[in-house]
Amino acid sequence: VAATIIDGAAQAARARAEVAAEVAEFLDMTGRPPGLATVLVGDDPGSAVYVAGKQRDCREVGIDPYDHRLPADATQEQVASLLARLNGEETIDGILLQLPLPAGLDSGVLTPMIDPDKDVDGLTPVSAGRLAQGLPGLRPCTPVGVIELLDAYEVELTGASAVVIGRSNLVGKPLAALLLERNATVTMAHSRTRELAALAARADVLVAAVGRPRLVGREWVKPGAAVIDVGITRGEDGLVGDVDFEAVAEVAGAVTPVPGGVGPMTRACLLRNTLRAARARSEIRISDGASGGRA
Ligand code: NAD
Repeated sequence: VAATIIDGAAQAARARAEVAAEVAEFLDMTGRPPGLATVLVGDDPGSAVYVAGKQRDCREVGIDPYDHRLPADATQEQVASLLARLNGEETIDGILLQLPLPAGLDSGVLTPMIDPDKDVDGLTPVSAGRLAQGLPGLRPCTPVGVIELLDAYEVELTGASAVVIGRSNLVGKPLAALLLERNATVTMAHSRTRELAALAARADVLVAAVGRPRLVGREWVKPGAAVIDVGITRGEDGLVGDVDFEAVAEVAGAVTPVPGGVGPMTRACLLRNTLRAARARSEIRISDGASGGRA
């Protein structure tokens, strides 16, 4: 193995410790902990596991988790009214609507109802617009985690050729925007891209966010490139990434494993986003007070 193995678990542990210390400071200053509301609709076991994990992560760093559940046959109006209530709740700084939603509910309609200042997943159109224009706002967790990993391993981004495979609103698009913000030359690839392997092989930074086990083979990777594997597919013997790890590790300069790469960073970044939202909201309140507005 030539490549440096990017240790997402270790990096995430450092990030969580940092957040825990800053949450304690926030509590000191404001007299309350940051709060994250999770909304789980239906009983998809995978989603339930994710939500439980996020709540556990919160408790570990001193963020208050608020658990909200609706049955699988909940109506669009019921979910909307819950979101509206959480938008108005003082103790809630972040709202996480767990996706995918059960059939019959439209995440394209419901997600935009989340107050952008509480949009810790960074998935509302307002958050996406803020990112696209380089305005301050909450960024999606997985892309932020990817950038943090690249930074932690001192991967040069300015002027680098970055290829992102996958163009979802959750990962590919926001990650491309963040890489562009960091002055990389970004190419977005997707299911209709021609000669994808050859394109990928020109990248200094290659990110796979597809969901196809071991799509990225050794010949897709430029020697010395940093390879980030976002993909997660549940296989017979555990989680499998989009990158053929053993083969790619022989040529890449650095590569993330699955599990233990991007996944833990994504979770840590959700905590950081919740803290950021809490700080921004308490500042809004302070400036409201100073101008004689609402307390
Ligand atoms: P998505 O399903 O919304 O999008 C997949 C993208 O891959 C599409 O843009 C499509 O154009 C592209 N694609 C499909 N087949 C392709 C092919 N053969 N060649 C090139 N491109 C192809 O996916 P998503 O929500 O962005 O998630 C992608 C993967 O990342 C999934 O495996 C998901 O489970 C995983 N994921 C992991 C984390 C994490 O924390 N590690 C977070 C989010 C998503």
